[in-house]
Amino acid sequence: MASSNTVLMRLVASAYSIAQKAGMIVRRVIAEGDLGIVEKTCATDLQTKADRLAQMSICSSLARKFPKLTIIGEEDLPSEEVDQELIEDSQWEEILKQPCPSQYSAIKEEDLVVWVDPLDGTKEYTEGLLDNVTVLIGIAYEGKAIAGVINQPYYNYENNEKQQLREHRNEAKAGPDAVLGRTIWGVLGLGAFGFQLKEVPAGKHIITTTRSHSNKLVTDCVAAMNPDAVLRVGGAGNKIIQLIEGKASAYVFASPGCKKWDTCAPEVILHAVGGKLTDIHGNVLQYHKDT
Ligand code: AMP
Ligand code: MG
Ligand code: MG
Repeated sequence: MASSNTVLMRLVASAYSIAQKAGMIVRRVIAEGDLGIVEKTCATDLQTKADRLAQMSICSSLARKFPKLTIIGEEDLPSEEVDQELIEDSQWEEILKQPCPSQYSAIKEEDLVVWVDPLDGTKEYTEGLLDNVTVLIGIAYEGKAIAGVINQPYYNYENNEKQQLREHRNEAKAGPDAVLGRTIWGVLGLGAFGFQLKEVPAGKHIITTTRSHSNKLVTDCVAAMNPDAVLRVGGAGNKIIQLIEGKASAYVFASPGCKKWDTCAPEVILHAVGGKLTDIHGNVLQYHKDT
């Protein structure tokens, strides 16, 4: 392992703070009450003000610090001057103390591709299922997802009035001192951090799948696997968190729709703890900028 002042570890440390800022933006838009919903391709493919502001914040903050990176965000936005208030300049110091896996120590900024999903689970966000939402920043090198950050802005959130009161006071269900939201991060060869790894109960086969992008093929495929239980929740990031926290044994989605920005960061967290994410034929996913 090399010293942590490598490009990769500096980038992950920045991405951590930038994802936290994006999570705050996602909470602020809800608190202000104007979601500014736009339909992209259809009624289940939405964009909100939070998707737009969070992407501006993430992409501009990354580009200022790492101008040679290739950064690909989900949302098509006009190129305009970004408000200074959206820029996050800090780095998460704990990550800078970690060693860089030696195979990544010589990576240069221009070798990296960053896949950004500023708000994963937008449909659920517009319906108030806020704990389904994540901010995803995935980092790829030579086409492979190698590092990732997931912010869950509403971790500890309860969908009830009592929680809304606590949220208003910036408290969480774990007690008055608990903080709303969390950030999970990982680097292949180093590990994944910010959560407690759990297995599903022995002998149980629980499948997690889409809630709002289903079709007959998706449901037939899940049924054919004869699971003990099926969880239908929003967000690719959210479903990967269910796997690493022992709520589900597999995430099955037999349909086009998930994009590189949906899977890059979650894949790293899953792979860092021994899981596997593939396409329907069992092939690894490619994250080159032109893929
Ligand atoms: P879901 O599990 O339905 O929340 O989907 C996971 C991610 O893939 C989300 O970012 C969705 O927006 C995206 N996605 C999946 N299927 C579709 C689809 N049919 N159209 C648009 N986006 C989709
Ligand atoms: Mg998404
Ligand atoms: Mg999104």
